[in-house]
Order: sequence, then C-alpha cells, then structure tokens
Amino acid sequence: MTRSTRSEIMRAPAMHTPRNAFTDANALECWADGGLLIEDGKIAASGDYRDISAAHPDTPTKDLRGGFLLPGLIDTHIHFPQLRVLGGLGLELLEWLDKVALPEEARMADLSYACGTARKFVNALVAHGTTTALVFGAHFAPATAALFEAADAAGIRLISGLVLSDRLLRHDLHQTPDTAYRDSSALIERFHGRGRLRYAVTPRFALSTSEAMLEVCESLLREHNSLHFQTHLNENPEEIANVAHCFPWAPDYLAVYERYNLLRSRAVVAHNVHPSGPELLRLASHKTAVAHCPCSNGALGSGIFPFKRHLEAGVSCALGTDVGGGTGFGILKEALQAYPTPSP
Ligand SMILES: [Zn+2]
Repeated sequence: MTRSTRSEIMRAPAMHTPRNAFTDANALECWADGGLLIEDGKIAASGDYRDISAAHPDTPTKDLRGGFLLPGLIDTHIHFPQLRVLGGLGLELLEWLDKVALPEEARMADLSYACGTARKFVNALVAHGTTTALVFGAHFAPATAALFEAADAAGIRLISGLVLSDRLLRHDLHQTPDTAYRDSSALIERFHGRGRLRYAVTPRFALSTSEAMLEVCESLLREHNSLHFQTHLNENPEEIANVAHCFPWAPDYLAVYERYNLLRSRAVVAHNVHPSGPELLRLASHKTAVAHCPCSNGALGSGIFPFKRHLEAGVSCALGTDVGGGTGFGILKEALQAYPTPSP
C-alpha cells in the first residue's frame, strides 16, 4: 500500500546520455513516448512508456506529454553574489571585476540582502532545470550560510564555499588567513554532508590570495579529506601575467595551486582558456576537471576555449554558466555556445 502511494510513472518524450558522449557514438537514448518510474522519490526504471506501464500496471501515470523529460542539469561554475549584475558586460575580466562584479559582491555584507539574493539564485537554478551546482559563495560567512540554507530548503545538490581573498581586491572583500580558516571551518562543520550539501574550499584566484591564504586552503583540505576544491585558472592574458608577477617562483599558473596540494579528483578549475601543454597534462594527472563557460568566455572577451586540446590531454570538462560573467542560468544555452568550430 505504502509502495503504491509513493510510486508513479511520468509519461513524456524522454532523453538522456547514460554513456560517455565523447567516446560512445550511441550515447544518446531517446523515447518518443517515454516512461519514468519513480519509487520513493527515486528513479526506479526508464524506457518506453508501454513497457514501463505494462510491468507496473497498478502504478498511476502522470501525463506530462507536451513537455519532455531529461536528467537534472549540472552547472559546474557560477557565482551566487553576481545574480544582479547579469547583463552588465562589455569589459574584460579585471576591469569588469573592479567596476561591475565586486561592488555587488560587497553588498553581501548585508545579511538581509544576501538572504533575498540566495533565494532568488536558487529559484533561478531550479527554473532552468539545474539540480546540481558548484557555486562560488560570498566573501562573507553569513551570506554563504544563507546560500546553503536556501539550497537545502529547495532540495537541490549544492557544492559551495566561502570565497577567500586577502589582497588586490576591494578591502571590504578581504579576510585575514586566520578569519578565513575559522569561518571556513565553522561552515564545513555546519553544512558539509547535510542532506545534499557539500563544501568546496574556494580561493577566488591565485591573484587575490597570498601564500598564507593558500596554506589555509591546504590545511582545510588536509583536515577534511572529503571536501571539494574550486578556483579560477588561465582565464585572461592580463590575469595570467599578473599571477606570474605575484608568484615568480612558479613556472606557470597551475603550479601555484600544485605547490599547496590543492588539485585532486574532487577539484574543478574554471575557464582555462589559455593553458600550456604541460598544464593540460598535469591537470589530467591530478584528475582535476575544467569548467568550460563558453558564454562568459565570449562576453568578457577571454577567448575561445581549446576544447579539443583538453580532450586530447585527457582532461575532463563540464559546462558552467559563470553567472554573472556569463549571460544567464541556462546550461542548454552553454551547450549550444560550446559547439566546436574547427579551426582553419
Ligand atoms: Zn568565475
């Protein structure tokens, strides 16, 4: 009795890619009249509607024809505090951060403003079919906690963390390494593993983090080995040149993160529009994935992502919207923009 009341079959055209679309020409499975059997909130079977309903004749059908069924989308790079700067584009990365993104990020010091933004942000993810997101939180612990609470209430899987920086941004976005360690530890304790929430150690980028702050990141990851890690890498030529100036001992940008043992299989670095060959090979050896954000790369003039070079080096890639450097919450739009054009 309990089982039947918690079961239903959703009926609509359905599609998914249960196999690796980069290596298997038959990765896409579609049913023009599809059925999805849901039991106790989980997918128990999928296929042709007639087959599913014949095997479960007592299970009621929810008729969703006119729409279609597809798996929840995953956004691997997006900034929660940038919700309200969407569309404020036309500048390259570093100037855009100064003039557009960071002034809005500073407003997250106001907790009531941050709570409202968090609710709208999570609602926008869900409205676009995104059920898992790897999100840059705020530079303020209460605002980052508000994001976790909003995602928990909505039931989506959210991986996020306090954004860490102690130099070269606006002063009101800086923490000290001590406060960064203390606030991150408290957030990890409170949210990592609660329901579908997970914590990611999140230095903004090497440019805005001192070596002491990168040591904090290393300590957090060593103390909690199930944490995720996210940051930015090789997005813009001026950024890359400045990182080389700040870390003269590093042979390239990636080496800064390697020095502090931050790269791992549960790590995602965003953009990597301008990688060297050795960096790609080392990313593959760390099993670290790259978030490809094609709309942002175009909107901020960062460049064309070398997708084929990543695949050839064995680096895993996934799509990200990079709101608000990107142009919206739609992952399907990113997939279209990522469509590869052969170089001449
Ligand atoms: Zn970003």
